[in-house]
Amino acid sequence: MRKAIYPGSFDPVTFGHQDIIERSAALFDELIVGVLNNSAKNSLFSVGERVSMLKELTKVIPNVTVDSFDGLLVDYMKESGATIIVRGLRAVTDFEYELQMAQTNHVEYPKAETIFLTTNMKYSYLSSSVVREFAAFGGDISKFVPSQFIDRIYAKYDIKK
Ligand code: ADP
Repeated sequence: MRKAIYPGSFDPVTFGHQDIIERSAALFDELIVGVLNNSAKNSLFSVGERVSMLKELTKVIPNVTVDSFDGLLVDYMKESGATIIVRGLRAVTDFEYELQMAQTNHVEYPKAETIFLTTNMKYSYLSSSVVREFAAFGGDISKFVPSQFIDRIYAKYDIKK
């Protein structure tokens, strides 16, 4: 059985993430969307909020579960039984870091293989930080994130639309 994990911050989840989730769910028997609980990073949404948004988004996909994890991805993989790491590649700028992480994870846990999905061209410019920057100034984020999350994102900046 092929069990994969798609790890990330998802702060907040975007159409780019949703696209990677849908495409990788079709490739593997089970997919865990793993929300990294990184206490060193100041996040807009709490881990609990990010997990529940992702659960809402993926409830229609039967082989997807959402969880959060602390610490090393490879430790969480050993615990959960996932052996495949899914990452999205947007541009060459993503590549250097991703290559290093994939190789490091493989050294730390030889069963771990990283699979890269190239971004859907529609979303290659899109990142959570772009969403946060636009939302902070009341910009239109409807092309970036699923509609049910828009109000929640603006609310973080005390913006009512
Ligand atoms: P990070 O891991 O840097 O916190 P994210 O949580 O935003 O970044 O992203 C998690 C994963 O989703 C990464 O593999 C990233 O490359 C990928 N990703 C983010 N945005 C997109 C996008 N627009 N298209 C495809 N993949 C994306």
